[in-house]
Amino acid sequence: MPTRSIYLETFGCQMNELDSELVAGQLRSLGYTFTPDQGAADIVLYNTCSVREQAEQKVWSRLGEMKKRKAADPSLVVGVLGCLAERDGHGLMDRMPVVDLMCGPGELDKLPALLDNAVRTRESLAADDPKRAGLRSARLAALQGNSSRRSGTLAAAEDSLELLDLSRSVSPVDVHDGARRSAYVRITRGCNKFCTYCVVPFTRGAEIHRPPNHVVDECKRLADAGVIEITLLGQTVNHYRFELDAALEVDGVVQPQKGRTYKGSHNRDSLAGDRVTTFADLLYRIHEEVPAIKRLRFVTSYPRDFGDDVLEVMRDSPRICRYLHAPAQSGSDSVLARMNRGYSIAEYDEFLDRARHFLHEPEKGRPLMLSGDIIVGFPGETDDDFALTIDLLKRSRYKNCFIFKYSPRPGTVAYDKIPDDVPEQVKRTRNNDLLAVQAEISDSISRQQIGRTFDVYIEGPSKAERKRQGLSKSDIRKAGQVAITVGGHSLEDDLSFSGKGVSGGTGFQPADSGRAGLRPASDTIQLSGRTDGDLIVFIDVPRAQAEILTGSIVPVRITDADRLSLFGELP
Ligand code: SAM
Ligand code: SF4
Repeated sequence: MPTRSIYLETFGCQMNELDSELVAGQLRSLGYTFTPDQGAADIVLYNTCSVREQAEQKVWSRLGEMKKRKAADPSLVVGVLGCLAERDGHGLMDRMPVVDLMCGPGELDKLPALLDNAVRTRESLAADDPKRAGLRSARLAALQGNSSRRSGTLAAAEDSLELLDLSRSVSPVDVHDGARRSAYVRITRGCNKFCTYCVVPFTRGAEIHRPPNHVVDECKRLADAGVIEITLLGQTVNHYRFELDAALEVDGVVQPQKGRTYKGSHNRDSLAGDRVTTFADLLYRIHEEVPAIKRLRFVTSYPRDFGDDVLEVMRDSPRICRYLHAPAQSGSDSVLARMNRGYSIAEYDEFLDRARHFLHEPEKGRPLMLSGDIIVGFPGETDDDFALTIDLLKRSRYKNCFIFKYSPRPGTVAYDKIPDDVPEQVKRTRNNDLLAVQAEISDSISRQQIGRTFDVYIEGPSKAERKRQGLSKSDIRKAGQVAITVGGHSLEDDLSFSGKGVSGGTGFQPADSGRAGLRPASDTIQLSGRTDGDLIVFIDVPRAQAEILTGSIVPVRITDADRLSLFGELP
């Protein structure tokens, strides 16, 4: 079969970015190539998100654009991967006949077979009757459907998705520039929380924990290939728990395990011992067994049941970042109850106090940095509820916060049972008010850092510097690197500048400095990097030094700041 080239665009969260990377690695090993140019691709794949309507709309408009192209090129294959495919099922193909294949996030290991089938089907349709072929789709799908929430405490033996994570191809080619020295590693899939607004438990299925040895081995392989920064991923990462006595083995491979309901504890003494790996144990193992990983962080933390054991491991392990992304969603107990979040604001406050007690050490150059998510305009949210959310923001002092207007999602409890009664205009006003409050907090946190010295992981030329030099995305992307586009941005951009993986909302998020754009051309280059607390830092260095520094961690003294970023110099 001749080589086929794929355009793969990713929407939504870090989980999707990782899925795209794994899928791309697998397809590349089968001989497919990747192109950043949609118009030149034989196969167009969209890895979709349905968490908010906005992300979904982008996919519909991309699919609309594909109609014309397919009419002109009947052999073109169009595929929809991820949450939207899982949620809409075959209805999606009825609405968009241009789609040849769909693959849910729990079935991505089946994508190669599906794709091969779709390519052959389209080619034979095009050969038989090119005029009619443009109108027909191959209609191939791999979806979990109802099986995604099958009952039982153990993973089904056929959990073949684990093989996709295990097959991750890691090579120095992937990590030869600064941006690719960072990687995501999944520790859990799915979610059991059922917040009433959220589609994730339906699209990604039940919570499943990966065997700790698989996770540690993956970190080792990434480190061997040059990765120095790893972000562990899970919807509620701190609930990770793997029980060896209950583990199933199939063909000598320990299988992932379904999440069990258990009450977390604040007490390290209560750890269950050698046969159980808790999240604290997993963090400790990676820190101790993979010292080449200079930075270890994790997202997203669920504010309830966050034990002291995790905070102690973070405190005692110098390579674990002092950063927590712990979404509160609202500052009002009655809204939290309607959201089914399972904690009160008093409990949330207690958690942040405890986290600061263990981890906030600004005098040692290691302040604890927090970030959050808030939904405004959830059904029934009153002015008083909203005022409580503003208070929460002021108390919590996040370095940044993703703020979303409530978006009713088909299939969720809130969509079916709680009328979306907050007018759009009120949602918009509350959204803007909260952004303004957060901007002030971010500004003050930034300015507090002036005079401090931080270890900064240098990611490469800042976005403004690249613009100033007239470099396009494809100039920057090195030959041989996989071309993956994230919601219109290249994956490298998103990894490098601000962890926008949770993007798509109107969250206030430190972005890139505008200052470089105003500077005259010079012998210096502006590089951007991040502190271990995820603060964005810019430094100007001589051109000759830029390449040596990129991808390394260096001390930087902060000399100036604005609400988006810090500016510093090498001491
Ligand atoms: N598991 C994480 C947690 O519990 O914090 C969050 C995962 S969710 C994919 C990312 C964020 O999207 C949520 O924290 C929430 O703020 C936002 N979100 C989810 N569903 C939403 C909806 N229906 N409308 C608006 N924002 C939503
Ligand atoms: Fe969605 Fe709640 Fe699960 Fe987060 S914890 S993924 S918001 S259901």
